[in-house]
Amino acid sequence: MSFALLHRIELKRDDMVALLQDLIRIPTLNPPGENYREICEYLAKRLKPKGFDCQLIRAEGAPGDSDTYPRWNIIARREGTRPGDCVHFNSHTDVVEVGQGWTRDPFGAELEDGRVYGRGACDMKGGLAASIIAAEAFLEQNPDFHGVVEISGTADEESGGYGGVAYLAEKGFFDPSRVQHVIIPEPLGHDCICLGHRGGWWAEIETKGEIAHGCMPFLGDCAVRHMAAVLDLFEQKLFPAMAARYTEMPVIPEGARQSTMNINSIHGGQPEQPADYTGLPSHCVPDSCRIVIDRRFLIEEGLDATQAEIVELLEHLKATRPGFDYSLREINRVIPSMTAKTAPVVTTVHGAIHDVLGQDPIYVASPGSYDQKHIDRIGKLKNCIAYGPGDLEMAHKPDEFITVDDMMDSAKVMGRSLEKLLLPK
Ligand SMILES: [Zn+2]
Repeated sequence: MSFALLHRIELKRDDMVALLQDLIRIPTLNPPGENYREICEYLAKRLKPKGFDCQLIRAEGAPGDSDTYPRWNIIARREGTRPGDCVHFNSHTDVVEVGQGWTRDPFGAELEDGRVYGRGACDMKGGLAASIIAAEAFLEQNPDFHGVVEISGTADEESGGYGGVAYLAEKGFFDPSRVQHVIIPEPLGHDCICLGHRGGWWAEIETKGEIAHGCMPFLGDCAVRHMAAVLDLFEQKLFPAMAARYTEMPVIPEGARQSTMNINSIHGGQPEQPADYTGLPSHCVPDSCRIVIDRRFLIEEGLDATQAEIVELLEHLKATRPGFDYSLREINRVIPSMTAKTAPVVTTVHGAIHDVLGQDPIYVASPGSYDQKHIDRIGKLKNCIAYGPGDLEMAHKPDEFITVDDMMDSAKVMGRSLEKLLLPK
């Protein structure tokens, strides 16, 4: 193993912190999707002098893209002196809303006791900074490397990735003939390899009724009571059935190894009035009730069976409950993704963690999803993992932070991975 590279990365500690601080100070809040152009230009300005060819790509026409909030992405590509594989580090540049409860400036990027604080420090500007430092150190150490190093900064991961990785994948940027190994430095931990994620299915279910005067409900048909029957059936049948299913995928935390469903919202009857409204409700039987479900399914279940199970319960009510009628509208779907432990990127990062940290990695899978889904489904590239610094539980929290040590360890593992993939054996 090249200790020279690890030493070189050590020397870049202050540079890495300063880079992260700069990134945090560009508030790329999503929604609405602010400052994407600014952060891409910042990255281009940094990477161009290091020999990267930088392309700024706007996801025109993608959901959320507008002239006010354009979805800008950057792909920085540095070719080696000889042909070889392309190793791609993909980080999303967007961060979620600040929320309440901060004791620090969310965009101040304060450094204190080896931690950098700020929105996006952990998810995932810390990972982006670590991957840039790893790549820069590798290139300085090995100017004669084989293949290609690519770094992308992409928009909108927090809102589905359609203006970011999905768009780039549609354009062929993640075609396996172009890119062979993808590492997404999401905050899964410096000693963990994340192989993939569960699937998701979001849908709105509406029960229908008939409006009538509230003093004579028997003249109408109450959509809320019909929805109560739906929820009751879910409690009796669906939730116990889901709780009995476990995935073989190493999903963390443990509770997410089961199949799960959240009832995201419920609305029926008259719309809610603002808190300062002083009028009284009128008396009506609701003719519509809607819920939004957030169903996270296991790779073993599959999307078709997941949908069929819910439709079957609704059809059962339609056949047995007088007056029951419903409609179901899909909002979004995400297929599960799971990279094999034998995939080259997995065995490489496994070896790098072993070399750098002196331990075997912990294999994990994510309870939610991240941009791997687009690289898998649209890009058709299976050799992809998430590996990066930070504690996932810090993501989206007040006083979000990342430790510099964690970033250092991850940068070394990423640098070591580049050596394993792009230097002659
Ligand atoms: Zn993230």
